[in-house]
Amino acid sequence: MEVADKVILARKVLRSMLKTVPTQATAELTAIEARVLALITEAAWLELTCELVPAGQPEAENPLDPDEPPGREEAAAFFMAEKLRAMGFGIEFKSKTEGRPNVIGTLPGSGNGPSLILNDHLDTYPAGDWSAWTMTGGDPFKPTRHGDRLYARGTSDTRGNLACILLAVRAIREAGVQLAGNLACVFTVDEEKDGPDGSIFLLDDCGLKADHVIVAEPTGWTRPDGSWGMGIAVANGGHWLVEVETRGTKTHLWRPDTGINAVAKMARLLLALETMTFTHEAVHMPGGTPPRTAIIRTQGGAKREMQFTPDVCRSVIAVVGIVPGMTAESVLADIEAVLTAQRAADNELEASVRPYPGALFVDATQEQDAEAGPTRQLRAAYRRVLGEEPALYRKNAFNDTIRFSERRVAAITFGPGEDGWPPVNEYIQISKSVAATQILALTVLDLLGVATPPERSPA
Ligand SMILES: [Zn+2]
Repeated sequence: MEVADKVILARKVLRSMLKTVPTQATAELTAIEARVLALITEAAWLELTCELVPAGQPEAENPLDPDEPPGREEAAAFFMAEKLRAMGFGIEFKSKTEGRPNVIGTLPGSGNGPSLILNDHLDTYPAGDWSAWTMTGGDPFKPTRHGDRLYARGTSDTRGNLACILLAVRAIREAGVQLAGNLACVFTVDEEKDGPDGSIFLLDDCGLKADHVIVAEPTGWTRPDGSWGMGIAVANGGHWLVEVETRGTKTHLWRPDTGINAVAKMARLLLALETMTFTHEAVHMPGGTPPRTAIIRTQGGAKREMQFTPDVCRSVIAVVGIVPGMTAESVLADIEAVLTAQRAADNELEASVRPYPGALFVDATQEQDAEAGPTRQLRAAYRRVLGEEPALYRKNAFNDTIRFSERRVAAITFGPGEDGWPPVNEYIQISKSVAATQILALTVLDLLGVATPPERSPA
């Protein structure tokens, strides 16, 4: 094809692309890029996402609660693996626990490029009370479109993002492109419980590694005026779960004045814990909140004991927004200091804190270099599709990115899901997802390189 023809074709594809994605793309596309992007359409993304959302659900629901049984992602894993196999990927299943296979799909390059992992997870948050899912007719796993939004559990976190990975790769394959570097699609179990059976197992026990990792998890944003975009999370905040306990003296309910009510003591203590601050050094890139607590469970008073006041109360407190430099010891010391101050004001208060059994302390990660891969290539692709520079930020949530990053792999998070989607009636924005898929596809081509230009000419 002549150079002039390539330019005409590129402009044509770019124009058709702009009809579905409200963008202001400026950069010219190569013929290969144009051919790949033409295969990334709203219809294709919707069809794929609507297939992925109900796959293996609700078995793949995986609560963070360490005292609740984990999800079983097997059916979802087989489903996603089949999609990769159909695109020519070699498939391996790696399981630490029965019924929870991680999927590793590999597509060898021509041998002279870097390696890239596109990662996402197979488990989801539990859907909770199905009747609260008013936007999907009471079935949280029934993808339902309203305007530019697709609603269902797992749209934003994270099957909508996983669809972006699959569609970006499928477009590259269907366009006949041979990549220079090795590409792997790694779909993990157990991400919602911070990764012991998933990313930690793959990295520490299975030797998983790559030069670059992009984790397609929610980094999307929407302003009240309707404008939207996606950040690139080049770092994550950490988190931890601790348990605070108050003890008192049980009495008959008729004479509460003669005992010490553990629930009443906890109520006062929680007010102090909710507003406490944590010792930390200021960081260049703070998260969505400063380090702080979130009170997530309180239990006091036993069944069949309404004739008595409670003598014990326990609260589970999440510590979120942890920044580099904070440790399990520093977090416990800060909480101990609050307990000490409260005891000084109330000599009846008996309170203690301990790590919540089974919870992992998740460290914050250091920022990735914005000028190095994969951030540099992803930023460039973003500018080409959306015509502006993406914001780089620290994401205040767990992603498998953390597990790669803490083992010194260049890993970042990027996906169209809303970073801050609602707990029920979860949704993802459709036009944002199409743009994200195009950005991912251009990033893969740029990062891994194209080995041999395909022979056949585009339709
Ligand atoms: Zn997620």
